[in-house]
Amino acid sequence: MISFENVSKKYDDGTYAVNTFNLHIKEGELLVLIGPSGSGKTTTLKMINRLIPLTEGYIKIKDKMISDYDIHELRWDIGYVLQQIALFPHMTIEENIAVVPEMKKWEQKEIDHRIDELLHMVGLEPKTYRKRLPSELSGGQQQRIGVARALAANPPIILMDEPFSALDPLSREKLQDDLIELQKNIRKTIVFVTHDMSEALKLGDRICLMRNGGIVQTGTPEELLQQPVNDFVREFVGVDHAEERMVDVRGLVKSANPEEMDNLPIVPSRVPLNEILSLLGEHEQLAVQDMDEIVGTIDRQGIIRTLSRQMEGMK
Ligand code: ADP
Ligand code: MG
Repeated sequence: MISFENVSKKYDDGTYAVNTFNLHIKEGELLVLIGPSGSGKTTTLKMINRLIPLTEGYIKIKDKMISDYDIHELRWDIGYVLQQIALFPHMTIEENIAVVPEMKKWEQKEIDHRIDELLHMVGLEPKTYRKRLPSELSGGQQQRIGVARALAANPPIILMDEPFSALDPLSREKLQDDLIELQKNIRKTIVFVTHDMSEALKLGDRICLMRNGGIVQTGTPEELLQQPVNDFVREFVGVDHAEERMVDVRGLVKSANPEEMDNLPIVPSRVPLNEILSLLGEHEQLAVQDMDEIVGTIDRQGIIRTLSRQMEGMK
């Protein structure tokens, strides 16, 4: 869907914000770009919709060079969600959401219908919120509107730059959960920037870890946890001694019929992290044994979420 081929961004002062970046982002995946501050995440994101021009290499969207797209087409067909203050303060919620559909000259009836649909989608009652101003919403609600606005004209690609990082932990967790649910239904290609590993683990189908404008490692959450390519990844991922860490999976167990569990590997309710990660590389689900009894199953998403929550707790 989005391909970076030897992409670099060099500023006039000689700084390489991004250096020989190669990545293929697949259709329908949520790709997380993560890395320390200044590692080039925002620059990488903004080069996709040409908010920042690249200086070397090229980026293709659906096999077409971004330079060959009409700039409006490119901006309107790529949703963009920023950390904060992205809503127009003097426009009501409905006007904020309608920006791109209006530029695309949708019919008013169609726009109205879409606004209701989007507000429902992000969990805000249209009757209550359509006519409000952004200042009359909480931070979390404003970010929801930011997401709704980015989705408004149904773009196939969404770019999100630390969209939840200014929120309190509870709102952040709620918006992350909702994004996961939403993505199950809409299956957009999402590029999501964060500097928070617990968020990356929770949301990412794949994670691309950047440092100094380059890629250190790209892989699934399990791959980064289990096969970090070097100490930088190991430290960033924060699981130094995966083989020694134990995970308690009792809270995650879902009940299942005995037949469903017939061919699943069995793990105890307290398992070394490493073991569970390697089993989850090969199996969608595992059966859990507690006190000599098979109590149910656990799945990949449950484990990743638990890990992510544990890391949140360690901060
Ligand atoms: P991140 O989003 O990962 O924090 P950025 O993409 O914003 O990183 O920045 C990457 C690097 O590019 C940083 O070292 C930053 O200082 C540098 N940079 C950003 N904008 C400019 C600019 N206009 N001129 C020179 N260097 C810049
Ligand atoms: Mg940034």
